[in-house]
Amino acid sequence: MRKCIKCGEKAQVYLPQHRLSLCKQHYLEWFDNRVEKTIKEFKMFNRKDKVLVAVSGGKDSLSLWKSLINLGYDADGFYINLGIGEYSQKSYELAKSFSEKVGKTLHVVSLYKEMVPIPEMRKYDSRPACSVCGTVKRYYMNKFAKENGYKIIATGHNLDDEAAVLFSNTLNWSVEYLKRQYPVLPEEDGFIRKVKPLCKISEKESAMYAVLSGIDYIEEECPFSEGATSIDYKMFLAQLEEKSPGTKLRFYSEFLRKMYPILKQSEEKPKLQPCKICGEPSTNEICAFCNLKMKISQKEAKA
Ligand code: AMP
Ligand code: ZN
Ligand code: ZN
Repeated sequence: MRKCIKCGEKAQVYLPQHRLSLCKQHYLEWFDNRVEKTIKEFKMFNRKDKVLVAVSGGKDSLSLWKSLINLGYDADGFYINLGIGEYSQKSYELAKSFSEKVGKTLHVVSLYKEMVPIPEMRKYDSRPACSVCGTVKRYYMNKFAKENGYKIIATGHNLDDEAAVLFSNTLNWSVEYLKRQYPVLPEEDGFIRKVKPLCKISEKESAMYAVLSGIDYIEEECPFSEGATSIDYKMFLAQLEEKSPGTKLRFYSEFLRKMYPILKQSEEKPKLQPCKICGEPSTNEICAFCNLKMKISQKEAKA
């Protein structure tokens, strides 16, 4: 029987990459400490800042929200109803009931009201659903945070997400993306600071935190994410991790420590301008979101 290295009680969790056995209480503490350390390491925010946590109803974003509350940060939730059938309905209910349980505000924006739901939007844009959805999510997160006095947007991207993106960017030598792959995107020219406090926490670790904290979360993946190449990269990295625990964390952390500073030196900041239609920052005269909106209204007018 494994014993918790802190108190000697029966361990509930074993973390091979850290060679750590922990009981429930000490695991929850370990997780909160790790989140706190990451926030400090990357100077993400402090206890005076108003943080908006983007919650999807999944394990990562709800665990992040819970951990920030435990750590005493001023963190409210933000949910975008993407209108993806039962998946969105269920994830909304879970996010809502979590917010009621912890007594925090959950702000909600619904695509049914604002434009059209994601499945509908796919008819108007030939890009993969996840790209369209990403444009919409980024737009509303930034706009909402700015209009409601939040200085920081925190998302639940975890180590598996970041390592898979890093792997893909490296395979393709997407140097411009690599230059921006950092867990803090600074505030500038109309963009609110965006942070990823779970970037050094694996998917398994955040799932265990959610379960041991009694958080009800949506287990299903978004139906549109099926077949995404990132899933193959995640599986491949998981195989390496299985053979050699700690590989994923080393791949990502050492990139940030050794490679990112070199790449950053040659980063050319894209010139941003306010979108002519909505005023949000954009690299073009008209932002990606307004472009999408225009396509929708043109096609609707034709129909
Ligand atoms: P995904 O892009 O689905 O992997 O989600 C990455 C992060 O984006 C999540 O951890 C959340 O922080 C945020 N997010 C995803 N979906 C939503 C949503 N519907 N509403 C608000 N935030 C979301
Ligand atoms: Zn213990
Ligand atoms: Zn715009």
